[in-house]
Amino acid sequence: MERLIEYFSTMPSSHRTVLLVGGITFFWMLEGLFPLFRFSYIKWKHAATNIFFTITTAIVNLSLAFVMVWTSDWVTNHQFGIMSWLDFLPTPIVILIGLLFMDLIGAYGIHYLNHKVKWFWLFHLIHHTDTNVDTTTANRHHPGESFLRLFATILAVFVVGAPIYMIFLYQSLSVIFSQFNHANIILPAKLNAIVACFFVTPNMHHVHHHFQQPLTDTNYGNIFSVWDHVFGTYANVDNKMLTYGIDTHMSPQENEPIKNLLQIPFQEYRDIKKIEEEKVDNRSY
Ligand SMILES: [Zn+2]
Ligand SMILES: [Zn+2]
Repeated sequence: MERLIEYFSTMPSSHRTVLLVGGITFFWMLEGLFPLFRFSYIKWKHAATNIFFTITTAIVNLSLAFVMVWTSDWVTNHQFGIMSWLDFLPTPIVILIGLLFMDLIGAYGIHYLNHKVKWFWLFHLIHHTDTNVDTTTANRHHPGESFLRLFATILAVFVVGAPIYMIFLYQSLSVIFSQFNHANIILPAKLNAIVACFFVTPNMHHVHHHFQQPLTDTNYGNIFSVWDHVFGTYANVDNKMLTYGIDTHMSPQENEPIKNLLQIPFQEYRDIKKIEEEKVDNRSY
């Protein structure tokens, strides 16, 4: 445990890059061996768009990394936050509780708000416009969303009272789980039933990428599935029944060009109920 804390306290940035690139490579290979869907897409072309958004996310995170470090220094110096308040418990338990709350605030919480607050959604929907969800979709986030997620993670560091090692440990797990649960693979049903009690699986997160509500508004979790169980947003659906994308932006002319994806938050908000009503009205004339 001491070694683990020491390693993540001083984790070199080169190791984090290896984790990001190595994770994508590993799941990319698994997708080749055991694909859930046989997409008729050019994998590299699709990946190029998502890698562009992965790079913009990394730039956003780097630009404000000093705020995260400053927050972490402040909470540890002032013994503020959940981890300090629970430090009478054994260290592994404190780390687990710390990770659970980092995941709740930095992933589940902000993801839930991304779906409920209209202008948050305008940024987040870029993640949902991918009609071929695979491991590269993990970091397909509009830079505006990357900022929102970063602020949520800083808030998590504050509430959890996260030391630097906890930030690196959490972010490493977050990257790997996100690549895993977007990968175009599924776990066998029996194995999924066990793993999904504790962790988010591809079977679980794919449901979130179905193009229509109510399934779009389920399975918000990233690392731990417990928050979806606790807040009643868990859904279990046969992945073969899913259609990826988002109903307001299904045209490839809109959901493929990077330029349009960057512009979507500044275009008019589309209410799917109104679009459907207009279709019915037009038909009745
Ligand atoms: Zn979402
Ligand atoms: Zn996703």
